[in-house]
Amino acid sequence: MTERQIRLFGDPVLRSRTDLIPDPGDPRVRALVEDLVDTVEAPGRAGLAATQIGVGLRAFSVNIDGDISYVINPVLEVSGEPELVDEGCLSVPGFYFPRLRHPWARVTGVDVDGNEVVLEGDGLMAQALQHETDHLDGKLYIEGLEPETKREAMRAIRQADWFSA
Ligand code: ZN
Repeated sequence: MTERQIRLFGDPVLRSRTDLIPDPGDPRVRALVEDLVDTVEAPGRAGLAATQIGVGLRAFSVNIDGDISYVINPVLEVSGEPELVDEGCLSVPGFYFPRLRHPWARVTGVDVDGNEVVLEGDGLMAQALQHETDHLDGKLYIEGLEPETKREAMRAIRQADWFSA
Protein backbone atom coordinates (compact mmCIF):
# COMPACT_ATOMS: atom_id res chain seq x y z
CA MET A 1 0.00 0.00 0.00
CA THR A 2 1.23 3.41 -0.93
CA GLU A 3 0.15 6.80 0.22
CA ARG A 4 1.05 9.04 -2.71
CA GLN A 5 2.18 12.63 -2.67
CA ILE A 6 -0.58 15.07 -3.62
CA ARG A 7 -0.02 17.46 -6.54
CA LEU A 8 -0.67 21.11 -5.72
CA PHE A 9 -2.43 23.90 -7.59
CA GLY A 10 -0.02 25.14 -10.28
CA ASP A 11 0.93 21.59 -11.35
CA PRO A 12 -0.20 21.23 -15.00
CA VAL A 13 -1.47 17.66 -14.46
CA LEU A 14 -4.38 19.15 -12.47
CA ARG A 15 -5.50 20.96 -15.63
CA SER A 16 -5.48 17.89 -17.85
CA ARG A 17 -8.68 16.16 -18.90
CA THR A 18 -8.38 12.50 -18.02
CA ASP A 19 -8.73 9.50 -20.35
CA LEU A 20 -11.36 6.79 -19.96
CA ILE A 21 -9.91 3.56 -18.61
CA PRO A 22 -10.46 0.92 -21.31
CA ASP A 23 -9.52 -2.09 -19.15
CA PRO A 24 -10.41 -1.63 -15.45
CA GLY A 25 -8.82 -5.02 -14.64
CA ASP A 26 -5.36 -4.01 -15.91
CA PRO A 27 -2.81 -4.47 -13.11
CA ARG A 28 -1.73 -0.83 -13.47
CA VAL A 29 -5.32 0.27 -12.90
CA ARG A 30 -5.56 -1.99 -9.83
CA ALA A 31 -2.39 -0.38 -8.48
CA LEU A 32 -3.77 3.12 -9.18
CA VAL A 33 -7.03 2.34 -7.37
CA GLU A 34 -5.11 0.93 -4.39
CA ASP A 35 -3.08 4.13 -4.18
CA LEU A 36 -6.23 6.28 -4.45
CA VAL A 37 -7.82 4.34 -1.59
CA ASP A 38 -4.67 4.36 0.56
CA THR A 39 -4.12 8.07 0.02
CA VAL A 40 -7.72 9.19 0.73
CA GLU A 41 -7.76 7.20 3.96
CA ALA A 42 -6.07 9.84 6.11
CA PRO A 43 -8.46 11.66 8.45
CA GLY A 44 -9.85 14.91 7.08
CA ARG A 45 -9.73 13.73 3.46
CA ALA A 46 -13.04 13.48 1.59
CA GLY A 47 -11.99 12.67 -1.95
CA LEU A 48 -9.03 12.20 -4.27
CA ALA A 49 -8.90 12.16 -8.07
CA ALA A 50 -6.21 10.35 -10.10
CA THR A 51 -4.88 13.67 -11.43
CA GLN A 52 -4.06 14.69 -7.85
CA ILE A 53 -1.50 11.89 -7.69
CA GLY A 54 -0.24 12.69 -11.18
CA VAL A 55 -2.23 10.17 -13.24
CA GLY A 56 -4.39 11.30 -16.18
CA LEU A 57 -6.97 8.53 -15.93
CA ARG A 58 -10.67 8.61 -15.04
CA ALA A 59 -10.88 7.31 -11.46
CA PHE A 60 -11.35 8.76 -8.00
CA SER A 61 -11.82 7.71 -4.40
CA VAL A 62 -14.00 9.19 -1.66
CA ASN A 63 -13.85 9.04 2.13
CA ILE A 64 -17.21 10.02 3.56
CA ASP A 65 -16.95 9.96 7.35
CA GLY A 66 -14.52 7.03 7.20
CA ASP A 67 -16.49 5.14 4.56
CA ILE A 68 -14.05 4.69 1.67
CA SER A 69 -14.96 3.81 -1.91
CA TYR A 70 -13.64 4.33 -5.41
CA VAL A 71 -15.03 4.42 -8.92
CA ILE A 72 -13.57 3.95 -12.39
CA ASN A 73 -15.01 5.88 -15.38
CA PRO A 74 -17.65 7.70 -13.30
CA VAL A 75 -20.56 9.43 -15.02
CA LEU A 76 -22.15 12.20 -12.93
CA GLU A 77 -25.83 13.10 -12.46
CA VAL A 78 -26.98 15.92 -10.20
CA SER A 79 -30.28 17.28 -8.97
CA GLY A 80 -31.69 20.17 -6.97
CA GLU A 81 -31.08 23.90 -7.04
CA PRO A 82 -27.39 24.70 -6.44
CA GLU A 83 -26.60 25.94 -2.92
CA LEU A 84 -23.53 27.71 -1.54
CA VAL A 85 -21.36 25.32 0.47
CA ASP A 86 -17.87 25.71 1.93
CA GLU A 87 -15.40 23.68 -0.05
CA GLY A 88 -11.73 22.77 0.17
CA CYS A 89 -9.28 20.69 -1.88
CA LEU A 90 -6.18 18.66 -1.02
CA SER A 91 -4.46 20.36 -3.97
CA VAL A 92 -5.22 23.81 -2.52
CA PRO A 93 -4.29 23.09 1.09
CA GLY A 94 -5.33 25.32 3.96
CA PHE A 95 -8.22 27.08 2.21
CA TYR A 96 -12.00 26.83 2.16
CA PHE A 97 -14.25 28.97 -0.02
CA PRO A 98 -18.01 28.93 -0.56
CA ARG A 99 -19.23 27.81 -3.99
CA LEU A 100 -22.41 26.53 -5.57
CA ARG A 101 -23.03 22.79 -5.62
CA HIS A 102 -26.12 20.74 -6.32
CA PRO A 103 -27.51 19.23 -3.10
CA TRP A 104 -27.70 15.69 -4.52
CA ALA A 105 -25.45 13.72 -6.85
CA ARG A 106 -24.86 10.24 -8.16
CA VAL A 107 -22.01 8.70 -10.14
CA THR A 108 -22.22 5.44 -12.01
CA GLY A 109 -19.05 3.60 -13.03
CA VAL A 110 -17.25 0.30 -12.51
CA ASP A 111 -14.81 -1.37 -10.12
CA VAL A 112 -11.63 -3.28 -11.08
CA ASP A 113 -13.68 -6.44 -11.71
CA GLY A 114 -15.96 -4.62 -14.14
CA ASN A 115 -18.94 -4.64 -11.73
CA GLU A 116 -21.19 -1.60 -11.71
CA VAL A 117 -20.48 0.93 -8.94
CA VAL A 118 -23.08 3.51 -7.91
CA LEU A 119 -22.22 6.21 -5.37
CA GLU A 120 -24.94 8.67 -4.45
CA GLY A 121 -26.11 10.94 -1.71
CA ASP A 122 -26.57 14.44 -0.42
CA GLY A 123 -24.36 16.57 1.85
CA LEU A 124 -20.65 15.77 1.75
CA MET A 125 -21.17 12.83 -0.65
CA ALA A 126 -22.96 15.05 -3.19
CA GLN A 127 -20.24 17.69 -2.88
CA ALA A 128 -17.37 15.20 -3.17
CA LEU A 129 -18.84 13.49 -6.25
CA GLN A 130 -19.16 16.85 -8.05
CA HIS A 131 -15.72 18.03 -6.89
CA GLU A 132 -13.90 14.84 -7.93
CA THR A 133 -15.66 14.60 -11.30
CA ASP A 134 -14.54 18.19 -11.97
CA HIS A 135 -10.94 17.11 -11.24
CA LEU A 136 -11.25 14.40 -13.90
CA ASP A 137 -12.30 17.12 -16.36
CA GLY A 138 -9.19 19.14 -15.45
CA LYS A 139 -11.10 21.63 -13.31
CA LEU A 140 -10.32 22.86 -9.80
CA TYR A 141 -13.12 24.02 -7.52
CA ILE A 142 -11.67 27.51 -7.24
CA GLU A 143 -12.37 28.08 -10.95
CA GLY A 144 -16.09 27.79 -10.18
CA LEU A 145 -16.18 30.41 -7.42
CA GLU A 146 -18.28 33.56 -7.78
CA PRO A 147 -16.08 36.25 -9.40
CA GLU A 148 -15.49 38.27 -6.23
CA THR A 149 -14.78 35.21 -4.07
CA LYS A 150 -12.46 33.96 -6.79
CA ARG A 151 -10.41 37.16 -6.83
CA GLU A 152 -10.11 37.00 -3.06
CA ALA A 153 -9.20 33.30 -3.22
CA MET A 154 -6.49 33.82 -5.82
CA ARG A 155 -4.96 36.66 -3.81
CA ALA A 156 -4.84 34.47 -0.71
CA ILE A 157 -3.52 31.39 -2.54
CA ARG A 158 -0.69 33.32 -4.25
CA GLN A 159 0.59 34.20 -0.78
CA ALA A 160 0.49 30.63 0.53
CA ASP A 161 3.84 29.03 1.50
CA TRP A 162 3.29 26.08 -0.82
CA PHE A 163 2.36 28.15 -3.88
CA SER A 164 5.19 28.47 -6.38
CA ALA A 165 3.66 28.58 -9.88
ZN1 ZN B 1 -9.88 18.54 -4.94
